[in-house]
Amino acid sequence: CSGKEIINDVSIRANDVQPLYNSYITLRSAADTASDTICKADECMTLSGIPVAVKDNISTKGIRTTCASRMLSDYVPPYDAFAVERLRLAGAYIIGKTNMDEFAMGSASDTGFFGAVRNPLDMDYSAGGSSGGSAAAVAGGAAVLALGTDTGGSVRQPASLCGIAGFCPSYGAVSRYGLISFASSLDRIGFMGRSVSDLKLLYNIINVRDSQDVTNFSKKNSAEENADIKGLRIGIVKEFSAASADSDVTAAVNAGIKLMELSGAVIKSVSVPSVSLAVKAYYIISSAEAASNLARYDGVRYGHRAENFKDLRDMFVRSRSEGFGEEVKRRIMLGTFVLSEGYAESYYKRAMAVRRQLCTEFDEVFRECDIIAAPVYPCAGIRLGEKTSSVKRYAADIFTVPSSMAGLPAVSVPCGKNSKGLPIGLQLIGGRYHDDRLLEAAEIFE
Ligand code: GLN
Repeated sequence: CSGKEIINDVSIRANDVQPLYNSYITLRSAADTASDTICKADECMTLSGIPVAVKDNISTKGIRTTCASRMLSDYVPPYDAFAVERLRLAGAYIIGKTNMDEFAMGSASDTGFFGAVRNPLDMDYSAGGSSGGSAAAVAGGAAVLALGTDTGGSVRQPASLCGIAGFCPSYGAVSRYGLISFASSLDRIGFMGRSVSDLKLLYNIINVRDSQDVTNFSKKNSAEENADIKGLRIGIVKEFSAASADSDVTAAVNAGIKLMELSGAVIKSVSVPSVSLAVKAYYIISSAEAASNLARYDGVRYGHRAENFKDLRDMFVRSRSEGFGEEVKRRIMLGTFVLSEGYAESYYKRAMAVRRQLCTEFDEVFRECDIIAAPVYPCAGIRLGEKTSSVKRYAADIFTVPSSMAGLPAVSVPCGKNSKGLPIGLQLIGGRYHDDRLLEAAEIFE
């Protein structure tokens, strides 16, 4: 093992590039981590001495965990998330906590309290979001591997925009214990690395049954499945092809699909009609759950508390008004509205019906094909500072949100570049619990 050297090299690099990319909210020094890692660096465990970055909505014992929010800007968790505990047991070095959109709400890592993350490949561009800090850390050499979270695309999209690999496992495959909730029925911890084998490594370490999360399951579906690319049926969803994407994105994605075909895969056209309603339903459901989850930040037990207030109610109002940023407030208001009496039937309940229908349609499609291939994001780059309406930003989640709603595993792998040299990702979506087969198939993009 040369864990100590890797730790030192990556720590130096991470400190050097931090003022440029702003990929970390908390960057630990090699000295900070000496106690929890250096002795393990000599022990030759799977991740001995490997610097792993952890998104700042995943709890780390004794290390500040802010969700990029003023609300939690000095919160230090008393325990580790299950995923972090697994990393530590494997000998990993938690190099720092990565920057993100506030409470993971966003697509450009520009809604957080600690400033925007810049893309290491072109600093005029965003690293994507919400796990932009994790993606930028890996792409910029400031971490070897990273944990992110994906509720509606937040691992896959920044991986795509930063030219790395990202994996969002089946819902429930990885324990959410210690993940600070945004939308509990959609939230997943996901993995980022330079290659699909990095993703497999992290997945195998962390995909272990955990009774602390009731939605966690130990089902491994595909150990004996044939994941050979020869004869693998790749579905192209008509409704994705009809959605607008930049021509360079379409060209790169088609080149990726062609590569699979040349390697022996069979390409088929399939239909998931409810894709056209997925974004609307996602923003209703995720905002409803966010409004409910974020009600706990009232300034009483933890989190930001206003200094000047008249009475208890005023303290709640001021603490929340000061603690949350604009995007989080927008989602809380939207979520409260769609759950309110008289409106829940026409918004929340209908969105849930769309979600059920999407699940049924995907189940049917996965009888006709083994894997779906699609773009990750409609464009190759989001310019920092670009003024875009929320509705436009939300609409751009069209390719990632449908599989989020159905809890399906999905991976993003680099498949080309646009004319400015910005990377483009190809998304591969697997059937429920067929995570292993999906990763095997994605390996042709190594
Ligand atoms: N862009 C989506 C949103 O803002 C996805 C976020 C996520 O996956 N955390 O909700």
